[in-house]
Amino acid sequence: MIYIGCHLSVTNGYEAMGKQMTDFGGSTFAWFTRNPRGGKSKDIVPKDVNALSVILTEKKFGKLVAHGSYTMNLCSSNPETRANGLDMLKKDLEKMEALPGQYYNFHPGSHTGQGADVGIEQIAEGLNKALWPEMKTTVLLETMAGKGSEVGRSFEELKKIIDLVEYKDKLGICFDTCHTWDAGYDIANNLEGVLEQFDKILGLERLKAVHFNDSKNVCGAGKDRHEKLGQGMIGMESMKKFATNPAFEGKPFILETPNDDAGYIHEISIVKGWFN
Ligand code: FE
Ligand code: FE
Ligand code: ZN
Repeated sequence: MIYIGCHLSVTNGYEAMGKQMTDFGGSTFAWFTRNPRGGKSKDIVPKDVNALSVILTEKKFGKLVAHGSYTMNLCSSNPETRANGLDMLKKDLEKMEALPGQYYNFHPGSHTGQGADVGIEQIAEGLNKALWPEMKTTVLLETMAGKGSEVGRSFEELKKIIDLVEYKDKLGICFDTCHTWDAGYDIANNLEGVLEQFDKILGLERLKAVHFNDSKNVCGAGKDRHEKLGQGMIGMESMKKFATNPAFEGKPFILETPNDDAGYIHEISIVKGWFN
């Protein structure tokens, strides 16, 4: 069994997300720690967080996967953007401690012309300033499609980042199926081969969470356009094989497919059906 859910809005607080996902039939969820444009994040209300914790235990939820802002770029060529990104990361991670033991995932960054090697160094530098030994959150680097100057388009790039970070035990990988496919890893026809590669380069124990999306594009397109389950180029049969592969047992799967609430409820039930 895996845990399945989708992105939810944090507007009504944490308990509301737990209730909503329970209604959706899911067992994990993601939320943006601040609005996607990178604005201010809401303050934590301890009572609200505690109420969510009760739901997580009672309903046997898996790990939650908070998502950092898209505007957070630890390797921009603009020093101000970089500093801003680090500030967001630090504040997000401090806040995550109110809900100990969950995941926080983010896009490693876009090097904006500086080259991947400089990007990798700057991302690691940011992480080295933001992580601390007692933190309870695991920070996940997301596998990226490689559009524009995105860093993290290959397992090798992600490994290089991890290698430069001091508190490596605080790091993991969020495997986005659409991104990884778009980056050229054929999870439809060669899932075992891709997982072998992952294991060899990063180690499967680093794989903590999945963003479960079909793709509008062919493998290797480098595009990053998500599609509903079974309606894209990866296809339903391959999505099913992926989710039911033993490598993902017990992991949180987050849908980031283009759907409304009814669409997510439908996809959650499809995925759950694969385990009955
Ligand atoms: Fe993402
Ligand atoms: Fe994603
Ligand atoms: Zn994406």
